[in-house]
Amino acid sequence: MVDAPLNLLGLLPDGLVSALGERGIPCSLREARQVLSRVISEGLDDPTPRMSPRKALLEALRKEATWRRPTVLERVPDSEGKSVRYLFQLDDGAVVEAVRIGLHKPDHFTVCLSSQVGCAMACDFCATGRLGLTRNLTAAEIVGTFLTVRDEAPGVVSGAVFMGQGEPFHNYDAVIQAANVLSNPAGGRVAKEAITISTVGLVPQLRRFTREGHQFRLIVSLTSAVPEKRVKLLPVAGRTPLPELLEAVSAYAAAARTRATLAWVVMQGVNTGDDELEALRTAVADLPVRLNLIDVNDARPDGYRRVSADELSGFMSRLQLLGIPWIRRYSVGADENSACGMLAAQRGSSA
Ligand code: SF4
Repeated sequence: MVDAPLNLLGLLPDGLVSALGERGIPCSLREARQVLSRVISEGLDDPTPRMSPRKALLEALRKEATWRRPTVLERVPDSEGKSVRYLFQLDDGAVVEAVRIGLHKPDHFTVCLSSQVGCAMACDFCATGRLGLTRNLTAAEIVGTFLTVRDEAPGVVSGAVFMGQGEPFHNYDAVIQAANVLSNPAGGRVAKEAITISTVGLVPQLRRFTREGHQFRLIVSLTSAVPEKRVKLLPVAGRTPLPELLEAVSAYAAAARTRATLAWVVMQGVNTGDDELEALRTAVADLPVRLNLIDVNDARPDGYRRVSADELSGFMSRLQLLGIPWIRRYSVGADENSACGMLAAQRGSSA
């Protein structure tokens, strides 16, 4: 017999069959699919299958399993009405965020998810990085935050991005399990291609992700191509030599038959100059990449500042001259500390 309570929210149907089997409870794959569809796909607080539920299975589920989600402490909308930041409390009292973000398509949303409480990567421009790492989230906790945000959305939640607190690849197994649950027909039913995992560039995990052939989208943070600057901005990942990281990115792009997306957090006077353009030109000359330009969000009075429109357009034009495609991603929610790089579990006024 196994003593730990089983949280259904972190399980795929075959996982539920084996977990119940370890507890001496028989469950068919069909029953497992029905149970998980109830609590995950439909978001119900009752796992009873509609068709011929077995009494013994239901009793066992009520005794051995839970489908509890993290508790909502706060919901904070931003002033533009584009995002809502959720603050969740986990069972041990730890606090993490998730953010509902409106997409261009009306009444469609994506959810920005946290993967860890705090983060060990210590990126210099990031509020979460200053917290340090407390612990990893479980797959059930990640899925639980998603479900609450989804079920309260005034429309369709069609995507998820792992860009909240934490480095997703530093909690690889739980993040991949959560993404698998979110995309499973008996789970969140989100298209795999609409789930994005963002990493600061942990090479062993990037290679593993490539080997395993996942269909989730991947974004690798680059932010600087000048080695000394990269080490300062991304202290942990920056220790990996850039050629080694880009070799892993190139292998991923080839295996996934895609152009790799590299995130570039744009900072005034820091990473838009000739030194960066020259280093970038050399580093990605033969790589099928695109840059995803993201505004920095540093709330510190003496912190990194956003670039002016002129500095940004100059940088974009020179990227174009170098033949490096870019896309511009606009942050939302900066006024409520819910934009990228600002998720540090601060409490504001309750909504
Ligand atoms: S940017 Fe991402 S990886 Fe870096 S410290 Fe912040 S949460 Fe961690």
